[in-house]
Amino acid sequence: MSSIMSKRNTRRRNRPVILVGFLVMTMLMFCSCTLNGFGPKTPLIPDASTGFNDTVINDNPQNPHGNNTSVVTNPNGNNVLLYHELTGVFKETVEDPNAPRIYLTFDDGPSKVSTPKILEILDDYGIKATFFVVGRTAEYYPDILRQTLAEGHLLANHGYSHVYSTIYASSSAFIQDIQSCNSVIANITGTTPKRILRFPAGSFAVELERNPAVRDSIRQYLRDNGWRYFDWTVSMGDSISSAPPPGALAYDLIAAIDRSVANGRKDIVVLAHDVDAKPWTPLDLPIVIEHCLNQGYVFRTLDTYP
Ligand SMILES: [Zn+2]
Repeated sequence: MSSIMSKRNTRRRNRPVILVGFLVMTMLMFCSCTLNGFGPKTPLIPDASTGFNDTVINDNPQNPHGNNTSVVTNPNGNNVLLYHELTGVFKETVEDPNAPRIYLTFDDGPSKVSTPKILEILDDYGIKATFFVVGRTAEYYPDILRQTLAEGHLLANHGYSHVYSTIYASSSAFIQDIQSCNSVIANITGTTPKRILRFPAGSFAVELERNPAVRDSIRQYLRDNGWRYFDWTVSMGDSISSAPPPGALAYDLIAAIDRSVANGRKDIVVLAHDVDAKPWTPLDLPIVIEHCLNQGYVFRTLDTYP
C-alpha cells in the first residue's frame, strides 16, 4: 500500500474520532454557556411538566441573548414549540396551569432610552409587562407611550405628578392626581386605561402612614370606584443611585423569586423601574426573564391578577 493510500486510510479511520472530539467540544462549550448564563440546575429543554409561557413568540431562531433554546410562534392554544439550536429538534410543551405567574411591573416611565430598551427585550421573549406610568412624564414621550400600548403591554396609573407631599396632602389632591394621569394616558393613546394603580412610593408610603385619615379616605374612594391597587412582592432593587456589578440585581431578584416559589406563592409581582437614571434595569432584565422561562414560570400583566 502506498504511503498516500495509507495516510488516506488513517484519515478515514480518524474521522469518527475527530467527529466525536468535535461533538464533545461543542457540548463543553454549550455547557459552559449554560452555566454562565442560567445556572447549573437549568434544564436545556423544559419538560412538558414544567410549562411555558403560551404567548412566547420569537421570530428569530437565533435567540439574541445567548440561549440555545428558542421559542417559536404558537398561534393556537397553549402548546409551545421549543427549537433547540444544537440538536435542531423541535419539542412541543404545554403550559402548566399551576406554573408560578410573574408580573413584571415598571414604574415611573415612560423614558427616552430605557423604555425602548425594555420593550425590545420583552419583544425578544414575547412576554408582556405592566407599566405604571407617570402622567407628567408621559406628556414628554407620547410616542413611546403609544408604542408600549401597541406592543400589547398594560398601561396603568402611577399618578400625574409623583410629588408625595402634594398628592398625599389630602384625599381630594390624590384623587385629582390619579384622574389627571388617566386623562393623559387616554388623550395620548385614545384608550381609557383600566383602573389599576400603584401608589407613588407604595400604598404604605410614609406620607400616608403619617395621615391615616387621608389614607383611609383614599382607600375608600378606590374601593367605591372600582380601582385595584398593587404593591409588589419582590423588588429588583434597581432604584439605587450608583451602578451595581453587572448581573448583581438579576441574581438577587432571581433568588427572591425562587424563594417565593419555594414558599408556595403562585403570583409574584416584581417591582422594577423605567427611568433613564437607572440604566442597569434593562441590562439585567434578560437574565431574570431567561431564568424564569427556563424554570417554567409564566409572565402575565396585572389586569389578569386573580
Ligand atoms: Zn414611582
